[in-house]
Amino acid sequence: DIKLDTEIIGRNFVYCDEVESTNDLLLKSKDFNQHGAVLLAEYQTHGKGRKNREWISNSGQNLTFSILLKQNYPEKKINLINLLSSLAVAQALENLYQLNVELKWPNDVLVNKKKIAGILLESTSKGKKIEKLVVGVGINVNQPNFPGKFEIQPTSIRKEFKSIVSRERLLSEFLNLFEYLLDTALEKPDKILNDWRERCKMIGEKVKIIQDKQTLIGVFDDIDDDGYLILKTADKVEKIHYGDVSLR
Ligand code: ATP
Repeated sequence: DIKLDTEIIGRNFVYCDEVESTNDLLLKSKDFNQHGAVLLAEYQTHGKGRKNREWISNSGQNLTFSILLKQNYPEKKINLINLLSSLAVAQALENLYQLNVELKWPNDVLVNKKKIAGILLESTSKGKKIEKLVVGVGINVNQPNFPGKFEIQPTSIRKEFKSIVSRERLLSEFLNLFEYLLDTALEKPDKILNDWRERCKMIGEKVKIIQDKQTLIGVFDDIDDDGYLILKTADKVEKIHYGDVSLR
């Protein structure tokens, strides 16, 4: 029952054994340059997280892929794409494995407080216009354990669902949902924001926002219409952009 229902996303698909980074390759490639193209690699030698951190994933057990978007999205839309990417992962895990998924702003996907997937958006621009936007997705699928030191403990579907699952089925479920949510984002961004909020357990709680130059402490009030985090500190209300922060 593997079925890709999309019109655009993943219709152009490349499978690689090993690459440095699926995001980098897709951003650079001249041959593989269509809106909606998906590049999947069994292994990344330099898988990336935000701020030059590493995404570490066993070869052949998980999903690491990137989606190319080429529709000149304005900055605000990119925030929404960031949120809907993690929402698509959450809904896929709920639909297929009935997992209880929590979303951590801006786009971490947690199960039982452990990180099961990460997302990294990167882009190239010409002047003020975004030329290519890539959505990099790493989902821990069938990896049995995660040796090493992590700030947030990783987990996998195999560990949480207690069974090895089909990566193909998960990939197509994700791509179907991703395309659907991307379409929804145009007409009904509120739907995305509400579905995202529903899964965010940190709203209303005291949080720490760690930025390069400062750390802010306050209450995570809400996400606004553009997907920014609204933080209420002792003396003011701050709008936090996802690019340069860690949330604790
Ligand atoms: P954080 O969640 O720590 O605030 P982030 O949202 O910036 O960080 P990402 O950019 O999504 O995180 O991913 C990078 C982080 O994920 C790194 O700190 C790394 O320790 C952790 N990590 C790397 N590989 C995995 C993995 N397979 N599963 C879970 N976490 C991982």
